[in-house]
Amino acid sequence: MKIGIIGTGFVGLSFAAALGSKGYQVLAIDSDLDKVKKINTGNPPFYEPKLSTLLKEALKKGLEVSSDIEQAVKTSDLIFITVGTPTTSEGKINLKSLKGVAAEIGQILAHSKNKPVIVIKSTVVPETNRAIKEIIEKESKKKSGKDFGIISNPEFLREGRAVDDTFNPHIVVIGGEDSKTINKVKKFYEGFYKNVPYITTNTQTAEMIKYANNSFLATKISFINQIANICQSIPGTNVDDVAKAIGIDPRIGKQFLKAGPGYGGSCLPKDLRALISFSENFGQDPTLLKAVQKTNTQQVENLISFMTKILTRFEGKKISILGLSFKEDSDDIRESVSINLIKKLLKHKAKIVAHDPMAIENTRKIIGDKISYTKSIDEALKDSECAVIMTPWKLYSKLNNKDLKLMKNKIIVDTRRLLIKKKLDAKYYATGLGLK
Ligand code: NAD
Repeated sequence: MKIGIIGTGFVGLSFAAALGSKGYQVLAIDSDLDKVKKINTGNPPFYEPKLSTLLKEALKKGLEVSSDIEQAVKTSDLIFITVGTPTTSEGKINLKSLKGVAAEIGQILAHSKNKPVIVIKSTVVPETNRAIKEIIEKESKKKSGKDFGIISNPEFLREGRAVDDTFNPHIVVIGGEDSKTINKVKKFYEGFYKNVPYITTNTQTAEMIKYANNSFLATKISFINQIANICQSIPGTNVDDVAKAIGIDPRIGKQFLKAGPGYGGSCLPKDLRALISFSENFGQDPTLLKAVQKTNTQQVENLISFMTKILTRFEGKKISILGLSFKEDSDDIRESVSINLIKKLLKHKAKIVAHDPMAIENTRKIIGDKISYTKSIDEALKDSECAVIMTPWKLYSKLNNKDLKLMKNKIIVDTRRLLIKKKLDAKYYATGLGLK
């Protein structure tokens, strides 16, 4: 079986490398020629643990990477589409890349005898598969279900764990219009995965599953963040103990209950926006989802207020921001709260020095030389008036009194509660803990 994958971002490249490393014949396509070039040297264009090794192995076995979509469409049995689906300026889902790929596929199929199944892995609002099918039918003058198949197969991997999640997903959702096409994709997955629960359904339900999933995760985060904010007002209260206790309740579950500065990244904020805008099209008012979103966007303001109480003012003060990526083990800064915080502190005329093990280059592209950057913790802390732990990189939990000695004022603001107050010879303020 030949596999085509269109879009070699976090999802597409992880999937391509995983399949290729197991000897599958995979042709991965990206329209960005620089990316293709880099990937062909065995280097992913972004940081993802384990991916570099896996990619090198895959390139030696079954993986080819190019920008030749025609070859992929003409030769592949299954064509996975994994292009980005960002947000438009009005907060709607931007389907430009996906629709562009669909049109290209249709035009190529018009002159090909191949009858592939097109599998949409990109996150898309319900009814998008139907629109994509219509584009392919129009461009190819061929019929879905006869000349090609179409499947919705949303992806649930987590950045920072993309390789492990690609090999061991918690679920495979397959949405289709006919059982023959659904079974073809299911059979492919059954050859790759053992012991994975499958949900087979129609395309629009599969599409909706992904949004319901991410909305629920976002809800959990905003919920615990709100509880953390309340805890802060009750002397001695600890949100982590609250989260641990409620997480033991099997009806709640322990994951996604880590209070912090708000969720970011390339998925939760954009997917929530897309679902809100999508449901408003039908006259629905998704009050809960809007509250989740509002709670999240307020978190950075809450953090500024928290810091103002500690520092009084920011002007001219050197503030060390520890962590730029939206989560640990990633260099992805898309919608990172850290970047948002930096922008706000710059407005208050603070002097920012930013530290991150992986995300400095991406941040520089956005913030430029308005702040300084360092990969050395010592340099980040030197002469600083306040260090703010934003991303829970493991190395920040190892900060000790020797490191803090370099600071001008030893003030730590810990939005992840990585450090232990009583061990520190510093003024330590953690969000989510009620001040005594
Ligand atoms: P990404 O932005 O990292 O990568 C998308 C890739 O598609 C880029 O390399 C881009 O150059 C390529 N591309 C764009 N247009 C193209 C075209 N016409 N032809 C060929 N290539 C093209 O995106 P991602 O983070 O991998 O996400 C892809 C999809 O999967 C999105 O819909 C996203 O919501 C969803 N998703 C992402 C994650 C995640 O954690 N990143 C998890 C689950 C689902």
